[in-house]
Amino acid sequence: MAADLIRTFVAIEIPSSVREELDAAIAPLRRAERLRWTQPAGWHLTLKFLGELSREDVKRVSAICTRVASSLRPFDGALGGWGAFPSPHRPRVLWVGMQRGAEATVTAAKAVEDALFEAGFPREGKPFHPHLTLARIEDPAAGSRASAVLQEHPFASAAFRVDRIVVFQSVLDRGGARYHPLAVCPFAKT
Ligand code: ATP
Ligand code: MG
Repeated sequence: MAADLIRTFVAIEIPSSVREELDAAIAPLRRAERLRWTQPAGWHLTLKFLGELSREDVKRVSAICTRVASSLRPFDGALGGWGAFPSPHRPRVLWVGMQRGAEATVTAAKAVEDALFEAGFPREGKPFHPHLTLARIEDPAAGSRASAVLQEHPFASAAFRVDRIVVFQSVLDRGGARYHPLAVCPFAKT
């Protein structure tokens, strides 16, 4: 990877109080199963992954996201509903969904995707499903156990206001990725 390229994605942030709630909910499982757990400090909902971009493209993406966000209305979200990709029987990724505000999240993701596509950034091949990645799984048996345990412990977070999106840089590290905000893009005022 060239040093001047910036690994970029667009996401909704999760308030620290909600991250703490979620962290507490999965703490016993995290201790029980050796999965590649993600770090609560970095938890977010990805709307669009762009990959490695030049500085100029990051500026363009930020300007587009600023414009798109200003046309969106704030909404209430809440996390809940455990899931697994590609399936609970063969989990590679464990996640928690958006139990409330899913439709508005999909609308925001589509608005971002459409505007970026118009500007020449490729569309995502896969359908968009709002999720927060909790763990990546290398050992299928551990993954299936973890997935089964989650299903027995339903979770619903407190509601939180979603009133902006953020363009993030991702710095891949051995200890997991670290994310740095590049542009904060507020929604329209209600
Ligand atoms: P790591 O790759 O080290 O496991 P990560 O996946 O969190 O960490 P990135 O790969 O930089 O870090 O991804 C940043 C965000 O974009 C994450 O939310 C990730 O799930 C999402 N993402 C990454 N690649 C894609 C992709 N090809 N399509 C959709 N979303 C993606
Ligand atoms: Mg990744």
